[in-house]
Amino acid sequence: MTELRRPIESGVPDPFQYMHPVLKSNYGHWKWHDRPRPGVLHHVAESGQEVWTVKAGTQRQMDVYTIRKLCDIADQFAEGHVRFTVRSNIEFMVSKFEMVQPLIDKLAAEGFPVGGTGNSISMISHTQGWLHCDIPGTDASGVVKALMDELYEEFTHEEMPNRVKITTSCCQINCGGQGDIAINIQHTKPPIINHELVANACERPAVVARCPVAAIRPALVNGKPSLEVDEKKCVCCGACYPPCPPMQINDPENSKLAIWVGGKHSSTRSKPTFHKLVAAGIPNNAPRWPEAAGIVKQILYAYKENAKPWERMGEWIDRIGWARFFELTGLPFTKYHLDNWRGGRASLNASAQLRF
Ligand code: SF4
Ligand code: SF4
Repeated sequence: MTELRRPIESGVPDPFQYMHPVLKSNYGHWKWHDRPRPGVLHHVAESGQEVWTVKAGTQRQMDVYTIRKLCDIADQFAEGHVRFTVRSNIEFMVSKFEMVQPLIDKLAAEGFPVGGTGNSISMISHTQGWLHCDIPGTDASGVVKALMDELYEEFTHEEMPNRVKITTSCCQINCGGQGDIAINIQHTKPPIINHELVANACERPAVVARCPVAAIRPALVNGKPSLEVDEKKCVCCGACYPPCPPMQINDPENSKLAIWVGGKHSSTRSKPTFHKLVAAGIPNNAPRWPEAAGIVKQILYAYKENAKPWERMGEWIDRIGWARFFELTGLPFTKYHLDNWRGGRASLNASAQLRF
């Protein structure tokens, strides 16, 4: 008889071991739910059991003391169970309505706002940034903290036409995905090559193949194998930098921020969509990014005032048209806003062949 394959420690852990007992015993058997106030969800099971979920915002990157503080709050006010959402909101579950308000009061007293449900602006999702990734041009989590400080009221109230999902990405690979509003790094100058290091650090054919516009060629520089970039072709995407760190593209002056709008992943109401560029060349101005925050607020408040109830950002723009979007937001419209993915078929390198 073959021995049963034993589980290994990698991969997603079994969630049931951490789940609140009411959630565990009624898993898949919920009858209805509502939202008694922003930041609180109320679920009623077929068995008649009820559970209230209180959602609070965090500062995203958390030190161990903050996590301990949140766990202490869970032990004292919330029956000892928490979970984090994909946007790093923390959720506490309680099985008695009387426990909800003391929990909210304690969270408020400790500086964790309750909200992020329904038509609010939930916590901004961000890519890994300086803490975990090796190629960021900015600190995406810092942009999140700076922006959420300014959008605090929109987190604690549900006053937007529909939910607003904002994302940030710290390079143009954009592993943050599509968002109603996205704040992404935008490089504006081709990479500067350190020819001394290329032969030691880079697998040159892989780097050549990686360029979306076939701008990289092998070259001999000072008798050493290296690479060269046709700067007229280079679109400054930064794709060559991860496999070849000597092709340095991050730059404090020339790595800017760009803002994109109208993307979404879900199929609710309308199809998933790619977001589109609406503002570029914004200074990458740590630690508070005031220029980017100002433009995000311009877009958000134009959407809030003008969209019909339940229209997502992209649906609102589809209805009013891009000309009206730029009019209402007051953003300048330039020729760089006209590209689309269909046009990209002709200009991008769509084959895996190397070109020399
Ligand atoms: S967006 Fe780019 S730099 Fe940021 S974590 Fe993702 S791959 Fe890394
Ligand atoms: S991969 Fe991108 S940044 Fe690098 S040379 Fe090609 S277009 Fe320029």
